[in-house]
Amino acid sequence: MTDDVLTPDQLDSIRDRVRALMPQVRADLEALTRIPSVSASSFDQSEVTRSAEAVAALLRAEGLDVEIVVEGGRPAVIGHVDGPEGAPTVTLYAHHDVQPPGDEADWDTPPFEPTERDGRLYGRGAADDKAGVMAHVAALRAHSGDLPVGLTIFVEGEEESGSPSLETILAKHGDRLAADAIVIADSTNWAVGSPALTTTLRGGVRVVVTVRTLDHAIHSGMYGGVAVDAVTALVRLLSTLHDEQGAVAVTGLDESVAADLDYDEARFREESGLLDETQLIGTGSILSRLWTKPSITTIGIDATSIDKASNTLAAKAAAKISMRLAPTQDPAAAFERLKEHLESHAPWGARVEVSLEESGSGFAAHADGPAYDQARASFADAWGTDPVDIGVGGSIPFISSFVERFPDAAIIVTGVEDPDTRAHGANESLHLGEFEKVCTAEAIFLARMGALHTP
Ligand SMILES: [Zn+2]
Repeated sequence: MTDDVLTPDQLDSIRDRVRALMPQVRADLEALTRIPSVSASSFDQSEVTRSAEAVAALLRAEGLDVEIVVEGGRPAVIGHVDGPEGAPTVTLYAHHDVQPPGDEADWDTPPFEPTERDGRLYGRGAADDKAGVMAHVAALRAHSGDLPVGLTIFVEGEEESGSPSLETILAKHGDRLAADAIVIADSTNWAVGSPALTTTLRGGVRVVVTVRTLDHAIHSGMYGGVAVDAVTALVRLLSTLHDEQGAVAVTGLDESVAADLDYDEARFREESGLLDETQLIGTGSILSRLWTKPSITTIGIDATSIDKASNTLAAKAAAKISMRLAPTQDPAAAFERLKEHLESHAPWGARVEVSLEESGSGFAAHADGPAYDQARASFADAWGTDPVDIGVGGSIPFISSFVERFPDAAIIVTGVEDPDTRAHGANESLHLGEFEKVCTAEAIFLARMGALHTP
């Protein structure tokens, strides 16, 4: 690229600086990982405060103006430093809280004692998302004293608990987070050696459907054969949610086609643990089924347990249904479609009630423009290979809050994870070689954004 905004020497110099910084970045990451900052309310919240303070100290040491903000939830950290006059502005997001460790017996080494094995650093939060925090710090350090852009770093403290006070934080402090580009480092790369930008996320709707067929439970011998029990009616209703091939049978939902990446059935089977004889469900490419089409799962059922079963027809049964939505789908409309489907498919006139528990929008990035161009170039500079656009089948609900609040910003979703990271699970880990590339890419991105502007 002859018209590139950075010269090969400039790129080499950033790569070298980041490499030299990595031992300290790694030490700081380990120190953060030792703080069990689980934001779930049954855990000690003084640890979340302690991790906010640790993050604030890291940012202050780099010369940022730092404030810890609490708006009814867990402490978030906002740091800011002005760039050169007229330079573009970038906001970097990560979160310092973590998921609960789960059963410690499932971990090969204690979750809050970071441990290196085979080039990976194991520990709760070692990847999700304390490595995201440290990638931002590394990029900052790589430009120490000579930052090419105006920079804000926003480190949330309750992402793993659903970001309950994020709306308030954005309402009260959002002006400080506004930027030309917002980098959200909380997702994954496609594979070790293959960087990715997450350009779509699915939305979701969770409902409870309750089926009633009797006003009280009755003897199955006296009445069975004529009266139907609520569990049988519920199961029959749930079976209408998919067609014969297992594709979602609820009509009127959005769907689109995912990027054409190499991902075959064998890899899906290996990653998912689907039993050999169990067929895949749905239609279209596997990645479309995972990323850009709706899916429906029954995630819980209330019915008499086998232990407590007696010979009675149950009067009432309920199921919790999780529906994942295409990235562009309006969740309110999707809920209406699902509700209509369930009500209109009530078997044998069973009484069906549907209540909405939770819903969230997906995300479809406007993945072009100058900031995206520079982000893609930065990834290529760091990995030596172009990034791919990926989707994520799950949701990152807070991203839609950013999209809504900053409609003109380029929202760039990156991450430190790879397919073996096991975020949220036992033995979560960070690939240390990839982590250096993440830090390098981010440092180069800041330089590229700065170079877009000629003083
Ligand atoms: Zn995360």
